[in-house]
Amino acid sequence: MARIIAIANQKGGVGKTTTSINLSASLAEKGKKVLAIDLDPQGNMTSGLGVDKAELQNTVYELILGECSVSEAITDTVVENVKLIASNVDLAGAEIELIGENDKEYILQKKVDYIKEDYDFIIIDCPPSLNMLTVNAMTTATSVLVPIQCEYYALEGLSQLIHTINLVQERLNPHLKLEGVVFTMYDVRTNLSNQVVETVKQNLDTTIYETMIPRNIRLAEAPSYGVPINMYDPKSSGAESYRKLAQEIIERKGV
Ligand code: ADP
Ligand code: MG
Repeated sequence: MARIIAIANQKGGVGKTTTSINLSASLAEKGKKVLAIDLDPQGNMTSGLGVDKAELQNTVYELILGECSVSEAITDTVVENVKLIASNVDLAGAEIELIGENDKEYILQKKVDYIKEDYDFIIIDCPPSLNMLTVNAMTTATSVLVPIQCEYYALEGLSQLIHTINLVQERLNPHLKLEGVVFTMYDVRTNLSNQVVETVKQNLDTTIYETMIPRNIRLAEAPSYGVPINMYDPKSSGAESYRKLAQEIIERKGV
């Protein structure tokens, strides 16, 4: 059965999408079958996997509204072994359209249920808020991976995020686990990065992945070519670190 990992942090710009794209690609590189689900109306995961947002017939929006089947919503990406349920700006309206729907917390989960046996991993890129889309990601997921950017306000909002995960666990999805924390944009040369890592370790009782994703300009460049880092610059520190993270996640299958 697929491990379904929601990549979540309601702060924007912490590396959720970069992690979603490159973790998906790195898992595929290791022979895993991956489905990526873009739940952010910005659609950056979609374009980062080489899919043209303007050309899409069916996205996660049509899927959530019941206008297409889950198999119709799945498209190919530039990465062999990574399929995608894409997103575009239409998704921004989904929240309002769901008002009054029964079981609106479980809409994605019910759709993904049909196809989860076809994949080893399903990676869900969450929007930068704790809205109904993020709740749908958490009811679908088996675990939540939280990217934390190594910057001064890293801890801000984290307790709210953990509280949300706990609420979903208690009320909506008892199987949900906290996969752990991964540090992003880490810079060995700065004290700040090290301080952030120390503070999070002291304040959070959860798994912290050994792999830290360094600040690497190649990671920021790759999306404009519509490819993940292991296709854009396979030897870069960014590519190496996401490979290591993928390996660590595969090995921690007991989560
Ligand atoms: P989020 O999805 O949490 O909003 P993104 O993954 O979009 O965050 O990252 C925010 C910005 O930081 C993007 O421009 C991205 O290219 C850049 N970025 C992310 N991770 C790194 C990294 N490790 N090194 C350099 N730039 C990064
Ligand atoms: Mg994002």
